[in-house]
Amino acid sequence: MPYDLLIKGGHIYDGSGLPSYTGDVAVEAGRIVELGRLSGGARRVIQADGLAVAPGFIDFHTHLDAQLLWDPIATSSCWHGITTVIPGNCGLTLAPCRPQDREGILGSFVRVEAMPLKVLREAVNWEWETFAEYLNRLDRRLGVNVAALVGHCALRQFVMGEEATERAARPGETERMKEILRESVRAGAIGFSTNQNPVHMRADGKPIASRLATDEEILELGSVLGELNKGSIQISQGTLGVSLPAEQGVNFFSRLAARSGRPVIWQAIAHRWDQPDLWRWLLDMAQETLATGVPSYPLCNARLFNNRFNLKNAQVFDDLPTWKEILFKPVEERLRIFRDAQVRQKLRYEAVEEKRPSRFSRRWDLVYMIKAATPKNKSLEGKSVDEIARTQGKDVIDAFLDLSLEENLETLFQTSSNNGDENAVAEILKSPFTLVGQSDAGAHLIYDAGYGYATRFLGYWIRERKVMSLEEGVRKLTFMVASIFGLHDRGLIRPRMAADLVLFDPSTVRECEPEMVNDLPGGEKRLVQKAAGVKMTVVNGEPLTEDGEHTSALPGQVLGRSGRVIP
Ligand SMILES: [Zn+2]
Repeated sequence: MPYDLLIKGGHIYDGSGLPSYTGDVAVEAGRIVELGRLSGGARRVIQADGLAVAPGFIDFHTHLDAQLLWDPIATSSCWHGITTVIPGNCGLTLAPCRPQDREGILGSFVRVEAMPLKVLREAVNWEWETFAEYLNRLDRRLGVNVAALVGHCALRQFVMGEEATERAARPGETERMKEILRESVRAGAIGFSTNQNPVHMRADGKPIASRLATDEEILELGSVLGELNKGSIQISQGTLGVSLPAEQGVNFFSRLAARSGRPVIWQAIAHRWDQPDLWRWLLDMAQETLATGVPSYPLCNARLFNNRFNLKNAQVFDDLPTWKEILFKPVEERLRIFRDAQVRQKLRYEAVEEKRPSRFSRRWDLVYMIKAATPKNKSLEGKSVDEIARTQGKDVIDAFLDLSLEENLETLFQTSSNNGDENAVAEILKSPFTLVGQSDAGAHLIYDAGYGYATRFLGYWIRERKVMSLEEGVRKLTFMVASIFGLHDRGLIRPRMAADLVLFDPSTVRECEPEMVNDLPGGEKRLVQKAAGVKMTVVNGEPLTEDGEHTSALPGQVLGRSGRVIP
């Protein structure tokens, strides 16, 4: 009998980290059936000479919850070799949700993940109330696979209504949340996510609901996964060392993993200019925790977190109280306040002189003006604020605010507080304990596009910087993620495994520069990011993309819906 698909002569990086080898991969009914030198016929044969054949990459940190409703192939992720996405991170999901709570739920995505409310209102049509119903809706039309976490904010709002953003839960309410979580996991959720980041607010200025949870509530919810012996826990409590003492955070993550017995994925290890050695301490802590047998894993990123902003939409200054207060005011008022010399004095203190840790680096030599809003200032594009200030003989705050005011707050800047020191990033990536990802795909649509973390990792860090072997790199993007998130039939090229594959050219694979397009519902704009060197992705045995183009197939599935993974 002919195979459905035969990939011939590729270099197989099977996800285990073992040495790669030249061979063929045969697929039938969505599964890998044979490996080696195969001569049987196939409905489709793909010559993969010179290409790497690897398990499809699993993007475990996305906010594609809404986008998947109108974009079943999950652009731009699918262009980077991603075959499975995990939405529902950071406590945010669109289910469960009752009709009266819809605005509150959307409001969390608007501010925390910077998605336009107009787009969400138009495109999210609420054909569900429970998590099971949401998964059913997704499953009707998917190009990539989806394995979804349930968000703590939605659980709280579902049980407590608006009071979820105001107070701790009463014992009966925690019990009710546990019941809903139990139902959701039985229906196919692959775990739950929670978020106590003190700067995360809804569009109406209220804290997101999961911030009001006590430690005990989080531990109780984690215990549900322990009881079901299924699911992972994603947790963010803000920037470690800024939002809370790093030790307090890491200890709590370990407690959560120890008490639930389930894998905890915590956010995050990155290099930061304000505490340049913290990453090393966090890596040591991760190693110590894992050495005690507790499954608690840090995530990290292969890229700079670039933040593009203007003073109409900036969130980079949210740790600085005077800045934050002004940036929550109407634009007209901001224009007035930013002119005030006394206010500027305070702004200067917080953003230049103060030593308190902050996610904003206070490195004005790393804040670049990337797009002028008026022709007059075009010549300043690409220069840092520090450089502009020096040539103008001003201090940085005056230069920054004068320029923004002159352009009605539309001057576009870019900065990154994270991962500026590449030697540190190399050490973080190399650690056997770190999960490489955190694309935030589907979020902060106009500030930054992190879709290409995997192609960045393969092209820059592995090919050019040689931080590890390609075998090890592929393992980190596939088998390691699948194992920690319980996707036990993915992440390896082996007979009986799902045929999720990526074919790429190791000598050319890389991420492209993000570009602005107007393809959101209603014609709203967002950044997309293409990749080079990715030849093909295969999802459940069917090609999904070829040379960056969608094949028109929709072979994706909601994963995790059955306790029995292998049929
Ligand atoms: Zn997130």
